[in-house]
Amino acid sequence: MKILIIEDEIELAISIANYLNCEKYICEIAHSYNDALDKIALYHYECIILDLNLPDGCGFDIIKMLKMNQSTSGIIVISARDALNDKIEGLDLGADDYLSKPFSLSELNARLRSVIRRKHFNGQLEYYYNEIKIQPDIRKVYVNEVLVELTRKEYDLLVFLITNQRRVLSKETIIEHLWGDFMGIEADSYNALYTHMGNLRKKLQEAGSEDYIETVYAVGYKFSLR
Ligand code: CA
Repeated sequence: MKILIIEDEIELAISIANYLNCEKYICEIAHSYNDALDKIALYHYECIILDLNLPDGCGFDIIKMLKMNQSTSGIIVISARDALNDKIEGLDLGADDYLSKPFSLSELNARLRSVIRRKHFNGQLEYYYNEIKIQPDIRKVYVNEVLVELTRKEYDLLVFLITNQRRVLSKETIIEHLWGDFMGIEADSYNALYTHMGNLRKKLQEAGSEDYIETVYAVGYKFSLR
């Protein structure tokens, strides 16, 4: 899950990134408004943690831009401006949540989990896809109620496929989702994808699941329940 932290206070940005990295998110940091726009134009982020006061612009304009472009990224505003008006304006513009500084990193993490759960799983704590059950908060997958041990990449891969059910996802789209900042896809990226995909399918089937992942020849993959 890729997260963008837009925050000009470098130490705060780094401490958020370090904390969230331990929580298995992949974090990128933008220290300015323009840096943020560059990153948003290039990559998709699951959630954007957004400071309102930036040296070269205002966070509200970033929310407006995201909404204008129909971005599906979650947005959590973090601001030292503890004014009710800011909070209302942020939420009105389409932010998903608002945290006043200072806040605890565990609080931010809880809000982030909740925003991602709302986006992907309609807010449910667990989600069933026939015999497969996913608990997004704790990143666990079960087949017929028995836990399946997946690696971080296998889990991300499964959730990406499932949340895009019945859509064909190209290999390139999946690679970008799993690894982020690649600047050109190499043979290695495909090999890594094939390995993770193979292991994921094998683990699910060994646990008793049907194989819902369909290989679409020369294009990519599709998850569809039968
Ligand atoms: Ca600031």
